[in-house]
Amino acid sequence: MTEVNEMKLKEDTELRIGVEEGEAIVELIEGRAEIFGSELEKHKRYTFQKGSRVAIFTYEGATIEVVGSGANSYTSDQTPMVIYLNTHAALEQIRKVAESDPSHRGPRIMLVGPTDVGKSTVCRILCNYSVRMGRSPILVDLDVGQGDISVPGTMGAIFINKMADIMEGFDCSRPLVYNFGATSPSENLPLYDLLVKELAEVINQRCAVNRDSNIGGVIINTCGWVHGDGYQCLVNAAEAFEVESVVVIDHERLYNDLKRDLPSFVKILHQPKSGGTETRSKEMRATSRSERIHKYFYGTPWSRLNPYTFEVNFSDILIAKIGAERLPESCLPFGTKVDDHNTKVVSVRPSSSLVHTVLAISPCAAVSQNVIKDTVLGFVVVNEVNEETQTLTLLSAQQELPSKVLVLTSIKFVDDRNH
Ligand code: ATP
Repeated sequence: MTEVNEMKLKEDTELRIGVEEGEAIVELIEGRAEIFGSELEKHKRYTFQKGSRVAIFTYEGATIEVVGSGANSYTSDQTPMVIYLNTHAALEQIRKVAESDPSHRGPRIMLVGPTDVGKSTVCRILCNYSVRMGRSPILVDLDVGQGDISVPGTMGAIFINKMADIMEGFDCSRPLVYNFGATSPSENLPLYDLLVKELAEVINQRCAVNRDSNIGGVIINTCGWVHGDGYQCLVNAAEAFEVESVVVIDHERLYNDLKRDLPSFVKILHQPKSGGTETRSKEMRATSRSERIHKYFYGTPWSRLNPYTFEVNFSDILIAKIGAERLPESCLPFGTKVDDHNTKVVSVRPSSSLVHTVLAISPCAAVSQNVIKDTVLGFVVVNEVNEETQTLTLLSAQQELPSKVLVLTSIKFVDDRNH
């Protein structure tokens, strides 16, 4: 039987909903409320699918109706939303200075912390609040494992000028995407750092020519890998983007280490995580990565996409791989760094090992070093390989390949709608 619950929320409280079965439909009946910074429209019904986890927060009190027997919900008045609002207010001060004096730029803030502390959620809240003030910030996502902008294995940026849709998130239809090709920076640290620098450079160029972006500033989401080399990636990213503030969520040691290692002009803030954030197992993370790829090709229940499957001949495509076998030092040409093999682009022959592999579509005309630094045109998945006929069957969002150079990733996706 469908369960209908009407809940009255007091000011500064939130209703946390985890959808365990079926779906949950949420409606704002009275007052004002928001989900991760996006305001709810009164009497509009919002549907959340199984696996969703959201918080409906109100600053001034609201009545919410929740329909759905699989929705596990509770109210909490222990929320860090006011702290996040204060962070937003501090960013707004920097924007005002940039607005009145073109020699200044808007804020550059990086969110760091272990996995599942709400980094992506806080980025979304800060972006939404800035849009509500009429700003156009840039959201950068360096989380190659659970990023929100494109498929796993990528880092990228979006230029935001409208609030995130409550159910769909931010409009990612025109993102800037770099292919890293794996779900953890540890798989190729030199490549990760190189792409971070490249992205930072492109963002700087955008800010130099677009005043709204320059004032709106840059909000950076990062990976939850905060130890050892992962920590070093965070320090390198802070440097590359020249951030002036870092918010550390829930990790005192990380806060102290960054205070020690980042320049003194960088403001480092330690903030609590919300008790509502969900801790996800390894399996849940793998499922959510697969769902992200599924969404890239098939869309969502509210905005479905119809991908294409077609065959291509081995001879019609060129497959590039970033990272070559490491040569012994004695074989390296004079002046070549040992690390260079990690960022060397080489050609590979199509073979049956490509089945279920995600490939990035590069705009390059040939397999060259440019494959690394050029933003990608999209992704395909190899559904089948036929060595006999020398053909690959691809799942593609586009009707035909916009380029013949495809870049290998270590990411797999089983297209279960492949007949
Ligand atoms: P990762 O490092 O894996 O990318 P993260 O630190 O970015 O994780 P989020 O993805 O922001 O964490 O949050 C984890 C989960 O918790 C998400 O499903 C998010 O919707 C949920 N969540 C965040 N804040 C709340 C809240 N206040 N109430 C309920 N759920 C929440």
